[in-house]
Amino acid sequence: MKRLVGLFAALLGCGDPELVVIDQGTPVDIAPEFPPLQIYGAPVPEPTAISSTFGPRWKASDDRDDFHLGIDYFGTLGTRVFAIGDGTVSATYLDGEPGPFTLGGNVVVVEHELPRGRTFHGRPVTRFFAVYLHLDTILVAADDPVTAGQQVGTMGMSGDTDFVHLHFETRIETVCSLPFQLANPDAGCATGFDPHVHPFVFVGGLNEDAIRVEELVGVPGFVVRYTATRGDLDLDVIESSEGVLGFNERTGIDATSIPALDSFTYGDVELQPLDFLSTSSELELEIRFRERPAFLELRDIFGRGIRFGSR
Ligand SMILES: [Zn+2]
Repeated sequence: MKRLVGLFAALLGCGDPELVVIDQGTPVDIAPEFPPLQIYGAPVPEPTAISSTFGPRWKASDDRDDFHLGIDYFGTLGTRVFAIGDGTVSATYLDGEPGPFTLGGNVVVVEHELPRGRTFHGRPVTRFFAVYLHLDTILVAADDPVTAGQQVGTMGMSGDTDFVHLHFETRIETVCSLPFQLANPDAGCATGFDPHVHPFVFVGGLNEDAIRVEELVGVPGFVVRYTATRGDLDLDVIESSEGVLGFNERTGIDATSIPALDSFTYGDVELQPLDFLSTSSELELEIRFRERPAFLELRDIFGRGIRFGSR
């Protein structure tokens, strides 16, 4: 928050900008490309204890923007971690072991089958991978079958982290990120898309549909502040007359490298996530336009949301 206040003070040279409600907006409901499939269980006993959700975030510990590719569930050392559904352990990695998750500490990867008929980026997909990072202990081994709710490990702080949490990811069809696919064209895991989607696509969230959208008056351009309660951490699409930004499919987002993915400037639109910590009651994101767009639409992973202005 400090950073923003500083920025505005520099822009204005004086007092605080003011937040005002734009209008009530119009409810919208547009089917997403990959509709949620919430038949899976939570990976932790307390699934509302979240310190980072999926998508653009301000990573306070590193003092930088970061497109977070999973959900961070916080807890205490030894908190049980569960398989979210029936599947097969595709790999485990020990802290420090070479592999695709060198900063992830002790890692478990479980492969789950998708029901027939699912597509992603226009191609049929048959499976997804649930990835569990920073574990304290691992209780399964590669090729083990697991059943829904089976304990696969315990929460820890192995790898590159300074607090006890589970970084949990869901990756569709391949475990390989798009940057890895591009750097390793012969790796055999290439799908041509970045596979991480919001874990709520599979494990669900509270989904209260309780968001607030306000205009920040007294700053250059047109700035909107999106605020979601802790029960509604599933923003997916920001669509306006300036274009579409889709988090799950990386629509309008350059995912070919981590620095590109972590940059929240998209042409004339810029995203500015505010601090969100385990103690925050709300998640806030500022959407900055050079000029007021003809319309603005904000939709969650279900395709439900609000439109301001008319298309
Ligand atoms: Zn994380």
